[in-house]
Amino acid sequence: MYNFEGKIVIITGSARGIGFAIAETFAENGATSIILDLFQDAVDEAVKKITDKGFKAFGYVADITDSELTGNLFKEIFQKFGKIDILINNAGITKDGLLMKMKESDWDAVINVNLKGTFICTQKVCRFMMKQRQGVILNISSIVGIMGNAGQANYAASKGGIITLTKSAAKEFASRNIRVNVIAPGFIETEMTAQLPKEIVDKYLEAIPLRHIGTSKDVANLCLFLASKEADYITGQTIQVDGGLIM
Ligand code: NAP
Repeated sequence: MYNFEGKIVIITGSARGIGFAIAETFAENGATSIILDLFQDAVDEAVKKITDKGFKAFGYVADITDSELTGNLFKEIFQKFGKIDILINNAGITKDGLLMKMKESDWDAVINVNLKGTFICTQKVCRFMMKQRQGVILNISSIVGIMGNAGQANYAASKGGIITLTKSAAKEFASRNIRVNVIAPGFIETEMTAQLPKEIVDKYLEAIPLRHIGTSKDVANLCLFLASKEADYITGQTIQVDGGLIM
């Protein structure tokens, strides 16, 4: 159990999946979780699931690729709560296909949400964190961003870009006491992976030394640690949550 009492945590793409688990886990540990996602109904439902349990959460509709809207929203959140302690850039999409046949529109869409969206949110939040002289930014990448993957050139490039974006931000922000790190999940059980055929899942299981698929909670638990005081001396790092799949 960590103590995030009084901390304001923004999580992008958190109406479902890994993002929701992160929002719920921070709220369970005392934080106020701010859920950002594309649709009002999904945002309201996610907030309700957390507040019904007696924890603190608020929701906002946001498309992180819209720089002006996102900037205004972060300003509104900062004015309402008086600070932003932690940003978790989690929103992400896939549009898989072999590179040879990949549509430019699928390349652009994935780079735009995963990489540019992370840049936009980081840029918008950093001015508030710099004023505060403290903050934590966690960027959700993927092991695919380290090793590449056939059929995912756009996704791999976006997730690899997040790793070097993070190192650059960590170097720029360190003097203001802002830490920036990457979490690289492996195979995690979510709606994103539920559609995969059984033979592909079995192939992954064979390759995972810990012999089971990860959960959103596994990712959320690492977020808690990296955002906590206990991780005060860690910045610019990429940490995998993958059951040993790549090492
Ligand atoms: P998910 O279930 O698809 O959730 C992603 C969330 O992001 C959805 O709620 C989605 O909204 C939202 N979103 C998409 N585009 C957005 C935008 N432009 N602005 C704001 N929100 C947006 O995905 P997940 O499996 O939880 O994955 C979460 C993160 O972990 C992603 O970055 C993913 O790449 C990464 N990851 C996942 C795995 C895995 O095994 N699942 C492994 C490695 C890394 P809609 O539902 O309305 O589209």
